[in-house]
Amino acid sequence: ELRTPLTVLAGFLETLQEIELEPAERNRYLDMMADQSRRMQSIVQDLLTLSAIESAPPPENEVVDMANLIDKLRRDAEALSSGRHTIQVESEGQGDLLGSEPELISAFGNLVTNAVRYTPAGGTITLHWRISPQGAEFAVQDTGPGIEAKHIPRLTERFYRVDRSRSRDSGGTGLGLAIVKHSLNRHQAQFDIRSEVGKGSRFAARFPASRVSQT
Ligand code: ADP
Repeated sequence: ELRTPLTVLAGFLETLQEIELEPAERNRYLDMMADQSRRMQSIVQDLLTLSAIESAPPPENEVVDMANLIDKLRRDAEALSSGRHTIQVESEGQGDLLGSEPELISAFGNLVTNAVRYTPAGGTITLHWRISPQGAEFAVQDTGPGIEAKHIPRLTERFYRVDRSRSRDSGGTGLGLAIVKHSLNRHQAQFDIRSEVGKGSRFAARFPASRVSQT
C-alpha cells in the first residue's frame, strides 16, 4: 500500500530531475507528487493509530457525554457534507457510555465520515443512539450505494476495499473500519454491518449494559 505511491512519487521526481518541462507541465507533476505524498501520510497516520490502540492498556472507564459527542459528530458530518446531504439524529433513552472518549470519537467519527464520503449528494445520513436495559447502540445509517453481501465479512480487514478507486478518490486508506472494529472490541462492543445494494448501509456498535452509565 505504501510502495505504490512511493514508486509513483520517485518516478515523477526522476522525470523532474532529468527533463526540462514547461512550467504548466511541471506544476502538474508537482500536484500529482503532492497527492501521492498526502496519501502516504494518511496511511502512515492510520497505521500509527492502529498500532497505538493495539498496544494501549484497556480503555478508561470515563463517562462519555453522548449528547455532546453526537452533537459534535453531527456538526462534523455537516461540515464534511457541505450541504450535499440531509444529516439527522434519532436518540432514545437516557444514559451515557463508559469508555475512552477519544477512541469512541475516532470510531464513531470514522463511520460518519464513511457515510458522507460514500453517499451521493441528495442522500440522508442518520445517527442513531438508543439505550435499553440490554445495553446501548450507536449506529450510522445512510442511503448510499450499499455493499454486496460477499464483501461485508471482509470490510474490517486492513486495506480491504470494495471499490479501490472510489476509496482512493475520496481520501480513504482502507484502514478506517479495521480501527473501528479494534476500538469497539476494546469496549466489548459488537460491530454489526447491514447493507443492501442500491438502498444503503447501517453500521452499528452494540455495547453491553456494563458499558452504560444510567444517569
Ligand atoms: P476506506 O478508507 O477505503 O473508506 P474503510 O476501512 O473505512 O476504508 O472502509 C472499507 C470499505 O468499506 C471502503 O473502501 C468501502 O468500499 C466500504 N464502505 C465503508 N463504509 C461504507 C458506506 N457507508 N457505504 C458504502 N461502502 C462503504
